Amino acid sequence: MKKFTFEEITNHLITQGFFYPGSEIYGGLANSWDYGPLGSLIKNNVKDLWIEHFVRQIPYNYLIDPAILMNPKVWEATGHVSNFSDPLIDCKNCNSRFRADKLIEDQLSDKYDVNKLSESDMNKIVNVEKQVVCPKCGSRNFTEIRKFHLMFKTFLGVLEDSKSTVYLRPETAQGIFVNFKNVLRTTRSKLPIGICDIGKAFRNEITPGNFIFRTREFEQMEIEFFIEPGEDKKWFKFYKKNCKSFVETLGLKDENIRFRDHEKEELAFYSLATTDIEYLFPFGWGELMGIACRTTYDLQRHQDYSKQDLTYYNQETNTRYLPSVIEPSFGLDRLILALLCDSYDVEDVKDDKRIVLHLNPRVAPYTVAILPLSNKLTEQANKKILKVLDRRLNYIVDTTGSIGKRYRRQDAIGTPLCVTYDFDSVNDKCVTVRNRDTMEQVRIKITKLNKYIQDFLFK
Ligand code: ATP
Repeated sequence: MKKFTFEEITNHLITQGFFYPGSEIYGGLANSWDYGPLGSLIKNNVKDLWIEHFVRQIPYNYLIDPAILMNPKVWEATGHVSNFSDPLIDCKNCNSRFRADKLIEDQLSDKYDVNKLSESDMNKIVNVEKQVVCPKCGSRNFTEIRKFHLMFKTFLGVLEDSKSTVYLRPETAQGIFVNFKNVLRTTRSKLPIGICDIGKAFRNEITPGNFIFRTREFEQMEIEFFIEPGEDKKWFKFYKKNCKSFVETLGLKDENIRFRDHEKEELAFYSLATTDIEYLFPFGWGELMGIACRTTYDLQRHQDYSKQDLTYYNQETNTRYLPSVIEPSFGLDRLILALLCDSYDVEDVKDDKRIVLHLNPRVAPYTVAILPLSNKLTEQANKKILKVLDRRLNYIVDTTGSIGKRYRRQDAIGTPLCVTYDFDSVNDKCVTVRNRDTMEQVRIKITKLNKYIQDFLFK
């Protein structure tokens, strides 16, 4: 398999307009990225496919869209106010800041499993045994580890005091837990019931980086699946299988995906099991998503802190209890990055090279490019082709340069089908459809074009 550097791939994505550096005309803002026209289309496609896979195809599941700003008591109940922090160290020589756990992971992974180290273990490795070096200047002199809080704070209303402090949510999941009873009541459901949510989350990461892999503002696609306690294993297995089939449906290559089961020492005290799906990025394995068996922990905490009854009444058994929860949690941006890295290729074609993104056609920004052979044909081509195309399809009309150049341009952004309208089309009412991956061309009637595309997309 060919390997490409991360820089080569990300440069391509920026040049093509998948992403732009955030606030670029003001010099940017610490690893923030804006999605450009192509990136935004991919993002919507991945969200749609997630909804199709996890909401439409699982009859127990519902989609909601809770607010980003929540009552601060939510974050006291979850433990985020007291515990959501990373171990921060500064290099005493060059003042660069690092996450101690990440430095140990990067430099000593053959010796330590960082997930099993306590804060004092890390302090010993860094400051007593001096086993890690500063990646910037090579010094081994670091400050003691300090806890760095990851939640962004802001103020609600006009007063900037502790009473008006609110947080930008660090995960979307809690908007689901606080609405458990609402969704149960208004959908008149019984267990099991899944509540799904796509939205922004914010974490003041110490070391954002690797492009959109780790940013301070990102999007999550999360499900809390509420079940009868005791059925945890069955549903955990169900979601493990389902999440794997989702990443396969999207088109990630099997050899670049792996499950990482958390070991006992790594699990939170309430969790029965947790598995991450990891992807082999050009910079190494990275977490795409996690599936956690969270038992009754979250609902119990919210019940205790809100003093509201969050139990479920089972009419058949005439019993009342808190449901257990399985949580599959995807990072949308990481998934998109994985799809783009996985599909990137540079191929020799005749005397030329082409950059091509072999994206799943349903993920690709545009399904179809319409290429009128001459400017004189543009109006006619648009009229004839757009009349038959399904209006939900994303398409682009490209009128500049030779057909060969236009094919290369579409290959580089992953457009799976190019439709050329030429002078013969006027009389024979046919177009030439060229396939991105095989580069084969077929001539088909314009009236059959839409069916051809639908069959191609949903084969
Ligand atoms: P990491 O160990 O990489 O910081 P995490 O285990 O803290 O991630 P979770 O809290 O489990 O992450 O969040 C669920 C998912 O949200 C992750 O699997 C990841 O895809 C995504 N995610 C978390 N933090 C970020 C971030 N800073 N930028 C982009 N995506 C993120």
